[in-house]
Amino acid sequence: MTCKEVRALLSDYIDRELNVEILRDIDDHISDCTACSLQLEQLQKSLEILKRLRDKTPPNDFVDFPGQ
Ligand SMILES: [Zn+2]
Repeated sequence: MTCKEVRALLSDYIDRELNVEILRDIDDHISDCTACSLQLEQLQKSLEILKRLRDKTPPNDFVDFPGQ
């Protein structure tokens, strides 16, 4: 798999919306390729931030039960 192919699939890779063989190919590539592993890290971080922002949007009308 080439860097270009891997990068086109990175967001699907994070969502695990790919078949197992492709996931494994990307895993292999990323373990050998620093540039793509950095790209993956950055993408994961920005998706996390987006997710956190989205999680804050719903109204806090519900009581949070501690320990959950
Ligand atoms: Zn690469």
